Amino acid sequence: MADTTHTKVLIIGSGPAGYTAGVYASRAMLEPILVQGIEPGGQLTTTTEVENYPGFTEVQGPELMVKMEEHARAMGCQIVSDIITDLDLSKRPFTAKGDSGNTITADAVILATGARAKWLGLPSEEAFKGFGVSACATCDGFFYRGQEIVVIGGGNTAVEEALFLTNFASKVTLIHRRDELRAEKILIDRLMKNPKIEPLWHHVLEEVVGDDNPKGVTGVKVKHVETGAISEIPCAGVFVAIGHAPASELVKDTLKLHNGGYVAVKPGGTETSVPGVFAAGDLTDHKYRQAVTSAGMGCMAALDAERWLAEQDD
Ligand code: FAD
Ligand code: NAP
Repeated sequence: MADTTHTKVLIIGSGPAGYTAGVYASRAMLEPILVQGIEPGGQLTTTTEVENYPGFTEVQGPELMVKMEEHARAMGCQIVSDIITDLDLSKRPFTAKGDSGNTITADAVILATGARAKWLGLPSEEAFKGFGVSACATCDGFFYRGQEIVVIGGGNTAVEEALFLTNFASKVTLIHRRDELRAEKILIDRLMKNPKIEPLWHHVLEEVVGDDNPKGVTGVKVKHVETGAISEIPCAGVFVAIGHAPASELVKDTLKLHNGGYVAVKPGGTETSVPGVFAAGDLTDHKYRQAVTSAGMGCMAALDAERWLAEQDD
Protein backbone atom coordinates (compact mmCIF):
# COMPACT_ATOMS: atom_id res chain seq x y z
CA MET A 1 0.00 0.00 0.00
CA ALA A 2 1.25 3.51 -0.84
CA ASP A 3 2.40 5.51 2.15
CA THR A 4 3.61 9.00 3.05
CA THR A 5 6.74 9.65 5.09
CA HIS A 6 8.08 12.94 6.37
CA THR A 7 11.77 13.81 6.65
CA LYS A 8 13.76 16.90 7.53
CA VAL A 9 16.01 16.38 4.49
CA LEU A 10 15.22 14.49 1.32
CA ILE A 11 18.21 13.68 -0.87
CA ILE A 12 17.38 12.75 -4.46
CA GLY A 13 20.17 10.81 -6.18
CA SER A 14 22.74 8.21 -5.17
CA GLY A 15 25.95 9.30 -6.91
CA PRO A 16 28.94 10.78 -5.06
CA ALA A 17 26.98 14.00 -4.38
CA GLY A 18 23.93 12.23 -2.93
CA TYR A 19 25.81 9.77 -0.73
CA THR A 20 28.15 12.46 0.60
CA ALA A 21 25.14 14.64 1.42
CA GLY A 22 23.74 11.54 3.16
CA VAL A 23 26.87 11.18 5.32
CA TYR A 24 26.89 14.84 6.35
CA ALA A 25 23.13 15.23 6.87
CA SER A 26 23.10 12.05 9.01
CA ARG A 27 25.99 13.28 11.14
CA ALA A 28 24.05 16.54 11.59
CA MET A 29 21.25 14.40 13.09
CA LEU A 30 18.84 15.40 10.32
CA GLU A 31 17.77 11.78 9.73
CA PRO A 32 17.80 12.16 5.94
CA ILE A 33 16.04 9.94 3.44
CA LEU A 34 17.97 9.32 0.21
CA VAL A 35 16.14 8.08 -2.91
CA GLN A 36 18.49 6.18 -5.21
CA GLY A 37 16.82 6.51 -8.61
CA ILE A 38 17.16 4.29 -11.64
CA GLU A 39 20.96 4.07 -11.37
CA PRO A 40 21.95 3.30 -7.76
CA GLY A 41 25.52 4.57 -7.36
CA GLY A 42 25.26 6.92 -10.33
CA GLN A 43 27.54 7.30 -13.34
CA LEU A 44 30.62 5.73 -11.74
CA THR A 45 28.84 2.37 -11.77
CA THR A 46 29.22 2.46 -15.58
CA THR A 47 33.00 2.65 -15.53
CA THR A 48 35.93 0.48 -14.46
CA GLU A 49 39.09 1.94 -12.89
CA VAL A 50 38.86 5.28 -11.14
CA GLU A 51 42.34 6.66 -10.54
CA ASN A 52 41.64 10.17 -9.34
CA TYR A 53 39.49 9.78 -6.25
CA PRO A 54 41.70 10.80 -3.30
CA GLY A 55 42.59 7.92 -1.01
CA PHE A 56 42.33 5.35 -3.79
CA THR A 57 45.25 4.97 -6.19
CA GLU A 58 42.94 2.76 -8.20
CA VAL A 59 39.43 1.59 -7.42
CA GLN A 60 36.65 0.12 -9.56
CA GLY A 61 33.83 2.66 -10.00
CA PRO A 62 31.08 0.29 -8.78
CA GLU A 63 33.18 -0.69 -5.74
CA LEU A 64 33.74 2.95 -4.80
CA MET A 65 30.01 3.58 -4.98
CA VAL A 66 29.20 0.53 -2.81
CA LYS A 67 31.64 1.92 -0.23
CA MET A 68 29.93 5.33 -0.36
CA GLU A 69 26.52 3.73 0.08
CA GLU A 70 27.77 1.69 3.06
CA HIS A 71 29.27 4.83 4.56
CA ALA A 72 26.00 6.80 4.26
CA ARG A 73 24.02 3.87 5.73
CA ALA A 74 26.49 3.48 8.60
CA MET A 75 25.99 7.13 9.52
CA GLY A 76 22.22 6.55 9.71
CA CYS A 77 21.00 7.69 6.29
CA GLN A 78 17.81 5.89 5.24
CA ILE A 79 18.27 4.71 1.66
CA VAL A 80 15.19 4.06 -0.43
CA SER A 81 15.01 2.26 -3.76
CA ASP A 82 12.61 4.42 -5.78
CA ILE A 83 12.54 7.01 -8.58
CA ILE A 84 11.07 10.44 -7.90
CA THR A 85 8.59 11.16 -10.68
CA ASP A 86 7.06 14.37 -9.37
CA LEU A 87 8.45 17.07 -7.12
CA ASP A 88 6.27 19.90 -5.81
CA LEU A 89 8.46 22.77 -4.65
CA SER A 90 5.65 25.37 -4.64
CA LYS A 91 4.92 25.06 -0.92
CA ARG A 92 6.55 23.71 2.23
CA PRO A 93 6.89 20.98 3.23
CA PHE A 94 8.00 19.99 -0.26
CA THR A 95 6.36 16.87 -1.72
CA ALA A 96 8.07 14.16 -3.74
CA LYS A 97 6.12 11.33 -5.36
CA GLY A 98 7.86 8.08 -6.18
CA ASP A 99 7.38 5.63 -9.01
CA SER A 100 6.41 3.14 -6.27
CA GLY A 101 3.35 5.24 -5.45
CA ASN A 102 4.89 6.37 -2.13
CA THR A 103 5.14 10.03 -1.14
CA ILE A 104 7.86 11.76 0.86
CA THR A 105 7.36 15.21 2.33
CA ALA A 106 10.45 17.16 3.33
CA ASP A 107 11.44 20.40 5.05
CA ALA A 108 14.48 20.69 2.79
CA VAL A 109 15.50 18.95 -0.44
CA ILE A 110 18.97 18.21 -1.80
CA LEU A 111 18.92 17.53 -5.51
CA ALA A 112 21.77 15.29 -6.69
CA THR A 113 20.29 13.74 -9.83
CA GLY A 114 23.52 14.08 -11.79
CA ALA A 115 23.68 13.69 -15.54
CA ARG A 116 22.82 11.17 -18.26
CA ALA A 117 24.53 10.15 -21.46
CA LYS A 118 23.85 12.30 -24.52
CA TRP A 119 22.92 10.78 -27.86
CA LEU A 120 23.55 12.09 -31.34
CA GLY A 121 19.86 12.01 -32.25
CA LEU A 122 20.21 10.06 -35.50
CA PRO A 123 17.24 7.84 -36.44
CA SER A 124 19.62 4.95 -37.19
CA GLU A 125 21.27 5.39 -33.75
CA GLU A 126 17.85 5.10 -32.13
CA ALA A 127 16.93 2.10 -34.29
CA PHE A 128 20.01 0.10 -33.20
CA LYS A 129 20.12 1.12 -29.51
CA GLY A 130 20.58 -2.12 -27.62
CA PHE A 131 21.38 -3.94 -30.87
CA GLY A 132 24.95 -2.71 -31.38
CA VAL A 133 24.61 0.93 -30.32
CA SER A 134 25.47 1.66 -26.69
CA ALA A 135 26.59 4.49 -24.38
CA CYS A 136 28.20 2.18 -21.82
CA ALA A 137 31.35 0.21 -22.62
CA THR A 138 31.46 -1.38 -19.18
CA CYS A 139 27.94 -2.69 -19.63
CA ASP A 140 28.19 -3.91 -23.22
CA GLY A 141 31.86 -4.26 -24.20
CA PHE A 142 31.92 -7.97 -23.43
CA PHE A 143 29.52 -8.66 -26.34
CA TYR A 144 32.15 -7.58 -28.88
CA ARG A 145 34.95 -10.07 -28.28
CA GLY A 146 37.21 -10.29 -31.34
CA GLN A 147 35.09 -7.79 -33.28
CA GLU A 148 35.63 -4.27 -34.62
CA ILE A 149 34.09 -1.34 -32.76
CA VAL A 150 33.82 2.42 -33.19
CA VAL A 151 33.68 5.00 -30.40
CA ILE A 152 32.34 8.50 -31.03
CA GLY A 153 33.70 11.48 -29.05
CA GLY A 154 36.91 13.11 -27.90
CA GLY A 155 36.55 13.63 -24.14
CA ASN A 156 37.64 11.58 -21.14
CA THR A 157 34.69 9.22 -21.48
CA ALA A 158 35.37 8.44 -25.17
CA VAL A 159 39.07 7.81 -24.56
CA GLU A 160 38.44 5.66 -21.49
CA GLU A 161 35.76 3.69 -23.31
CA ALA A 162 38.08 3.14 -26.31
CA LEU A 163 40.87 1.91 -24.03
CA PHE A 164 38.54 -0.36 -22.08
CA LEU A 165 37.04 -1.82 -25.27
CA THR A 166 40.48 -2.99 -26.44
CA ASN A 167 40.10 -5.70 -23.78
CA PHE A 168 37.51 -7.30 -26.06
CA ALA A 169 37.63 -5.83 -29.56
CA SER A 170 40.09 -6.67 -32.31
CA LYS A 171 40.15 -3.00 -33.36
CA VAL A 172 38.68 0.25 -32.00
CA THR A 173 38.26 3.30 -34.23
CA LEU A 174 37.86 6.54 -32.27
CA ILE A 175 35.86 8.94 -34.40
CA HIS A 176 36.23 12.59 -33.40
CA ARG A 177 34.94 15.74 -35.07
CA ARG A 178 38.19 17.65 -34.49
CA ASP A 179 41.85 16.62 -34.50
CA GLU A 180 42.39 17.43 -30.84
CA LEU A 181 41.06 15.46 -27.88
CA ARG A 182 39.74 17.20 -24.79
CA ALA A 183 40.63 14.21 -22.59
CA GLU A 184 43.34 14.30 -19.90
CA LYS A 185 46.91 14.05 -21.19
CA ILE A 186 47.61 10.77 -19.39
CA LEU A 187 44.63 9.15 -21.14
CA ILE A 188 45.59 10.56 -24.54
CA ASP A 189 49.06 9.16 -24.07
CA ARG A 190 47.65 5.67 -23.35
CA LEU A 191 45.31 5.94 -26.33
CA MET A 192 48.06 6.89 -28.76
CA LYS A 193 50.28 4.04 -27.56
CA ASN A 194 47.56 1.40 -27.91
CA PRO A 195 48.10 -0.58 -31.13
CA LYS A 196 44.42 -1.65 -31.27
CA ILE A 197 43.11 1.95 -31.42
CA GLU A 198 43.01 4.04 -34.58
CA PRO A 199 41.80 7.66 -34.30
CA LEU A 200 39.78 9.05 -37.19
CA TRP A 201 39.97 12.85 -37.05
CA HIS A 202 37.54 15.43 -38.50
CA HIS A 203 34.73 12.90 -38.92
CA VAL A 204 31.19 12.63 -37.60
CA LEU A 205 28.79 9.74 -37.58
CA GLU A 206 26.33 10.03 -40.45
CA GLU A 207 24.46 6.74 -40.16
CA VAL A 208 24.56 3.42 -38.35
CA VAL A 209 24.20 0.60 -40.86
CA GLY A 210 22.91 -2.84 -39.96
CA ASP A 211 20.74 -5.87 -40.57
CA ASP A 212 17.20 -6.46 -39.39
CA ASN A 213 17.22 -10.21 -39.10
CA PRO A 214 18.97 -10.87 -36.79
CA LYS A 215 19.02 -7.24 -35.75
CA GLY A 216 22.57 -5.91 -35.43
CA VAL A 217 25.10 -3.35 -36.57
CA THR A 218 27.38 -4.11 -39.52
CA GLY A 219 29.05 -0.74 -39.96
CA VAL A 220 28.87 3.05 -39.87
CA LYS A 221 28.83 5.76 -42.50
CA VAL A 222 31.01 8.68 -41.46
CA LYS A 223 31.35 12.15 -42.94
CA HIS A 224 34.47 14.29 -43.20
CA VAL A 225 33.48 17.60 -41.58
CA GLU A 226 35.46 19.71 -44.06
CA THR A 227 35.10 17.90 -47.41
CA GLY A 228 31.71 16.28 -46.74
CA ALA A 229 33.09 13.00 -48.13
CA ILE A 230 31.25 9.93 -46.86
CA SER A 231 33.07 6.70 -46.11
CA GLU A 232 32.03 3.41 -44.52
CA ILE A 233 33.70 1.57 -41.66
CA PRO A 234 32.70 -2.04 -40.94
CA CYS A 235 32.02 -2.65 -37.24
CA ALA A 236 29.77 -4.67 -34.93
CA GLY A 237 29.42 -2.06 -32.18
CA VAL A 238 29.02 1.71 -31.90
CA PHE A 239 29.75 3.39 -28.57
CA VAL A 240 28.47 6.94 -28.33
CA ALA A 241 30.52 8.91 -25.78
CA ILE A 242 29.78 12.56 -26.52
CA GLY A 243 29.12 13.77 -23.01
CA HIS A 244 26.34 13.99 -20.53
CA ALA A 245 23.33 16.26 -20.00
CA PRO A 246 22.10 17.30 -16.54
CA ALA A 247 19.10 15.34 -15.22
CA SER A 248 17.01 18.42 -14.42
CA GLU A 249 13.61 17.32 -15.85
CA LEU A 250 12.05 17.17 -12.37
CA VAL A 251 12.72 20.85 -11.74
CA LYS A 252 12.91 22.37 -15.22
CA ASP A 253 9.76 24.45 -14.64
CA THR A 254 10.32 25.30 -10.98
CA LEU A 255 14.00 26.14 -10.54
CA LYS A 256 16.24 28.60 -12.33
CA LEU A 257 18.46 26.72 -14.80
CA HIS A 258 21.51 27.91 -16.74
CA ASN A 259 24.12 26.76 -19.26
CA GLY A 260 21.70 24.52 -21.11
CA GLY A 261 19.74 22.88 -18.29
CA TYR A 262 22.07 22.83 -15.27
CA VAL A 263 20.41 23.89 -12.00
CA ALA A 264 21.66 27.36 -11.09
CA VAL A 265 23.04 27.78 -7.58
CA LYS A 266 24.27 30.77 -5.63
CA PRO A 267 27.98 31.33 -6.45
CA GLY A 268 30.14 29.41 -4.00
CA GLY A 269 27.14 27.62 -2.47
CA THR A 270 24.37 25.15 -3.25
CA GLU A 271 21.23 27.28 -2.70
CA THR A 272 18.90 27.13 -5.70
CA SER A 273 16.28 29.72 -6.68
CA VAL A 274 13.80 28.16 -4.19
CA PRO A 275 14.71 28.58 -0.48
CA GLY A 276 15.15 25.20 1.18
CA VAL A 277 16.12 23.45 -2.06
CA PHE A 278 19.81 22.77 -2.63
CA ALA A 279 21.63 21.24 -5.60
CA ALA A 280 24.94 19.40 -5.84
CA GLY A 281 27.12 17.51 -8.29
CA ASP A 282 26.84 17.17 -12.06
CA LEU A 283 23.28 18.47 -11.96
CA THR A 284 24.59 21.94 -11.24
CA ASP A 285 28.19 21.77 -12.44
CA HIS A 286 28.85 22.29 -16.14
CA LYS A 287 32.54 22.89 -15.56
CA TYR A 288 34.30 20.24 -13.43
CA ARG A 289 31.95 17.22 -13.44
CA GLN A 290 34.16 14.92 -11.38
CA ALA A 291 33.36 12.43 -8.63
CA VAL A 292 35.41 14.35 -6.09
CA THR A 293 33.87 17.73 -6.91
CA SER A 294 30.39 16.17 -6.79
CA ALA A 295 31.16 14.67 -3.38
CA GLY A 296 32.43 18.08 -2.24
CA MET A 297 29.22 19.74 -3.37
CA GLY A 298 27.18 17.03 -1.63
CA CYS A 299 28.94 17.98 1.61
CA MET A 300 28.26 21.68 0.96
CA ALA A 301 24.56 21.01 0.25
CA ALA A 302 24.10 19.11 3.52
CA LEU A 303 25.84 21.87 5.49
CA ASP A 304 23.76 24.53 3.70
CA ALA A 305 20.55 22.58 4.39
CA GLU A 306 21.47 22.16 8.08
CA ARG A 307 22.08 25.92 8.46
CA TRP A 308 18.93 26.83 6.56
CA LEU A 309 16.79 24.49 8.69
CA ALA A 310 18.32 25.91 11.89
CA GLU A 311 17.41 29.44 10.70
CA GLN A 312 13.78 28.36 10.14
CA ASP A 313 13.61 27.17 13.78
CA ASP A 314 14.92 30.52 15.16
P1 FAD B 1 25.55 10.86 -10.78
O1 FAD B 1 26.72 10.01 -10.54
O2 FAD B 1 25.17 11.18 -12.18
O3 FAD B 1 24.30 10.19 -10.04
C1 FAD B 1 23.01 10.71 -10.21
C2 FAD B 1 22.07 9.92 -9.37
O4 FAD B 1 20.77 10.51 -9.41
C3 FAD B 1 21.88 8.47 -9.79
O5 FAD B 1 21.99 7.65 -8.67
C4 FAD B 1 20.45 8.42 -10.32
O6 FAD B 1 19.83 7.16 -10.11
C5 FAD B 1 19.81 9.50 -9.48
N1 FAD B 1 18.58 10.07 -10.05
C6 FAD B 1 18.41 10.69 -11.24
N2 FAD B 1 17.12 11.03 -11.42
C7 FAD B 1 16.48 10.61 -10.29
C8 FAD B 1 15.11 10.65 -9.87
N3 FAD B 1 14.17 11.19 -10.64
N4 FAD B 1 14.79 10.12 -8.69
C9 FAD B 1 15.74 9.58 -7.87
N5 FAD B 1 17.04 9.54 -8.22
C10 FAD B 1 17.39 10.03 -9.42
N6 FAD B 1 34.79 11.24 -12.50
C11 FAD B 1 35.96 11.15 -11.84
O7 FAD B 1 36.22 11.94 -10.94
N7 FAD B 1 36.84 10.14 -12.13
C12 FAD B 1 36.60 9.20 -13.07
O8 FAD B 1 37.43 8.32 -13.32
C13 FAD B 1 35.37 9.29 -13.79
N8 FAD B 1 35.08 8.36 -14.72
C14 FAD B 1 33.88 8.43 -15.37
C15 FAD B 1 33.58 7.46 -16.33
C16 FAD B 1 32.37 7.50 -17.00
C17 FAD B 1 32.06 6.45 -18.03
C18 FAD B 1 31.45 8.54 -16.71
C19 FAD B 1 30.13 8.58 -17.43
C20 FAD B 1 31.75 9.53 -15.78
C21 FAD B 1 32.96 9.48 -15.11
N9 FAD B 1 33.31 10.45 -14.15
C22 FAD B 1 34.49 10.35 -13.47
C23 FAD B 1 32.39 11.54 -13.80
C24 FAD B 1 31.62 11.17 -12.50
O9 FAD B 1 31.04 9.88 -12.65
C25 FAD B 1 30.55 12.19 -12.22
O10 FAD B 1 31.13 13.47 -12.12
C26 FAD B 1 29.82 11.88 -10.90
O11 FAD B 1 29.29 10.57 -10.91
C27 FAD B 1 28.67 12.85 -10.67
O12 FAD B 1 28.09 12.53 -9.45
P2 FAD B 1 26.65 12.99 -9.05
O13 FAD B 1 26.44 12.52 -7.67
O14 FAD B 1 26.47 14.43 -9.32
O15 FAD B 1 25.64 12.27 -10.05
P1 NAP C 1 32.87 15.95 -22.59
O1 NAP C 1 34.14 16.26 -21.84
O2 NAP C 1 31.81 16.99 -22.66
O3 NAP C 1 33.32 15.53 -24.07
C1 NAP C 1 32.37 15.24 -25.06
C2 NAP C 1 33.11 14.91 -26.37
O4 NAP C 1 32.15 14.53 -27.35
C3 NAP C 1 33.90 16.09 -26.92
O5 NAP C 1 35.11 15.65 -27.44
C4 NAP C 1 32.97 16.64 -28.00
O6 NAP C 1 33.67 17.20 -29.07
C5 NAP C 1 32.26 15.40 -28.48
N1 NAP C 1 30.91 15.72 -28.95
C6 NAP C 1 29.92 16.36 -28.29
N2 NAP C 1 28.81 16.43 -29.04
C7 NAP C 1 29.10 15.82 -30.22
C8 NAP C 1 28.37 15.59 -31.40
N3 NAP C 1 27.09 15.96 -31.52
N4 NAP C 1 28.97 14.94 -32.41
C9 NAP C 1 30.27 14.53 -32.31
N5 NAP C 1 31.02 14.72 -31.20
C10 NAP C 1 30.44 15.36 -30.17
O7 NAP C 1 32.15 14.64 -22.00
P2 NAP C 1 32.72 13.33 -21.29
O8 NAP C 1 33.92 12.84 -21.97
O9 NAP C 1 31.57 12.42 -21.10
O10 NAP C 1 33.14 13.87 -19.85
C11 NAP C 1 32.14 14.46 -19.01
C12 NAP C 1 32.76 14.86 -17.69
O11 NAP C 1 33.10 13.69 -16.93
C13 NAP C 1 34.05 15.64 -17.89
O12 NAP C 1 34.12 16.67 -16.93
C14 NAP C 1 35.11 14.63 -17.67
O13 NAP C 1 36.33 15.20 -17.19
C15 NAP C 1 34.47 13.72 -16.61
N6 NAP C 1 35.08 12.39 -16.73
C16 NAP C 1 36.25 12.21 -16.08
C17 NAP C 1 36.93 11.04 -16.23
C18 NAP C 1 38.25 10.89 -15.52
O14 NAP C 1 38.58 11.74 -14.72
N7 NAP C 1 39.02 9.85 -15.75
C19 NAP C 1 36.43 10.04 -17.05
C20 NAP C 1 35.25 10.25 -17.73
C21 NAP C 1 34.59 11.46 -17.57
P3 NAP C 1 34.52 18.56 -28.93
O15 NAP C 1 35.75 18.17 -28.19
O16 NAP C 1 34.75 18.96 -30.32
O17 NAP C 1 33.63 19.50 -28.17
